[in-house]
Amino acid sequence: MFIDSHAHLTSREFDADREEVLKRAADAGIRFVINPATNLDDSRRAVELADRHAMVYAAVGFHPHDARLADDRSLAAIEELSTHPKVVAIGETGLDFHYDFSPREVQERVFTAQLAIAQRRDLPVIIHTRESLERTIALLREQIVRLPQWRQSKRHPNGRTPGPRGVFHCYPGDLSTAWNLVEMGFFISLPGIVTFRKPGLALDVAAGISTEHLLLETDSPYLTPVPHRGERNEPAYLPLIADRIAEAQHLTPADIGRATSYGVFRLFSIGEAPAPRFTYTLKDSLYINLTIRCNADCVFCDRKGEAVVKGHNLKIDREPTPEEVIGEIGDPARYAEIVFCGYGEPTIRLDALKTVAKWVKDNGGRTRLNTDGHGNVINKRDIVPELVGLIDGVSISLNSTDPTQYGALMRLDGQRYFPAMVEFARESVRLLPRVVMTIVDLQDVDEEKARAFVEKEIGAVFSKRPYF
Ligand code: SF4
Ligand SMILES: [Zn+2]
Repeated sequence: MFIDSHAHLTSREFDADREEVLKRAADAGIRFVINPATNLDDSRRAVELADRHAMVYAAVGFHPHDARLADDRSLAAIEELSTHPKVVAIGETGLDFHYDFSPREVQERVFTAQLAIAQRRDLPVIIHTRESLERTIALLREQIVRLPQWRQSKRHPNGRTPGPRGVFHCYPGDLSTAWNLVEMGFFISLPGIVTFRKPGLALDVAAGISTEHLLLETDSPYLTPVPHRGERNEPAYLPLIADRIAEAQHLTPADIGRATSYGVFRLFSIGEAPAPRFTYTLKDSLYINLTIRCNADCVFCDRKGEAVVKGHNLKIDREPTPEEVIGEIGDPARYAEIVFCGYGEPTIRLDALKTVAKWVKDNGGRTRLNTDGHGNVINKRDIVPELVGLIDGVSISLNSTDPTQYGALMRLDGQRYFPAMVEFARESVRLLPRVVMTIVDLQDVDEEKARAFVEKEIGAVFSKRPYF
């Protein structure tokens, strides 16, 4: 299931067959389409279309091309239209210094006015920017400083503040700027350009941005993906874009669909929050959410936040029995790996872990344990020999090679737990087939030192995972 976060279905190109286009989209697995508007008339059409079709939502506003058509009255009309229940955003708005169809100062004034509407209406914005990224960001920063409560959205489903407040549609910039925008509370949306023979920066961004901050769009009727170049674009082609991004991310199209649909839920409140799960798939592996307890309290952990990973909600309210887990696994040989993890530290449930792992091994599956490496302290004995024959791979969070920093990051006694974790890692390297040690991509952590420590002193494989 996918959501097309940007398609101009109200455009003339769809006058002849709009209903069929929506039907084809539904048949292609598109659950919802957001129709952004370009001016006041188009905003009215977008609202009417959304009114008629359950799968369509509208954004209302003035595109920078049409900014010269905006005046106080038409902007007031946009604000009035935005009270319609199926209007989920203000947009598309922004700056376009490539075509300059409206004078730049007019574009800037109308963009700022629409940011203020979004703030008053507690709505996100859909931003168009072309050859104007720096200026767009500067105006956004000014506006966020002026209207800080905009980031404290009451609409945000989990009430977490600050909430996401907009999307850069058809994002034209590089990856590092994209990360800055994510930090400012914005999503990045990529269209069919990622499928082009010359995708420019878009494919870099597709590969490097976290899927928790990515949306999918066709920008229909424009930017038709390969292999339909030269034809009119339509939402039914969205899976082609998802396939290419999945490839770039080393994920499945289903992972991309789930993660980006959750992004749409967070940003636009469309759809619903995913239900908590004991087991969930990522790529070709099945993850077992074995526990809700943890002995640590890492500063970067999302336990107290949303705890949603690629659209899977990990916030279970009780721990599953081994029988429940086994029932959900089905045939373990279908998966590359059965991964023991949790919304917490899985070795806290060592007995359940061993019972399920034994069943998986007896039934032809492969197993991995994701752990903080404190299992020996938690269980008050050396547990690694007990994992022999049950666990094929272990991923241990190294976090830092400095016990003090380690303790600060995990909010526990580093002088006690760091050596315990290292001992667990050494013993795992000695007794188990494959050991990986990971750090989170945090500025203060010395990556090269960590890599050398893992590879030379422990003899494990080093890996880095993104902070988000
Ligand atoms: S060890 Fe894992 S689950 Fe526990 S607090 Fe740290 S990141 Fe969160
Ligand atoms: Zn558009």
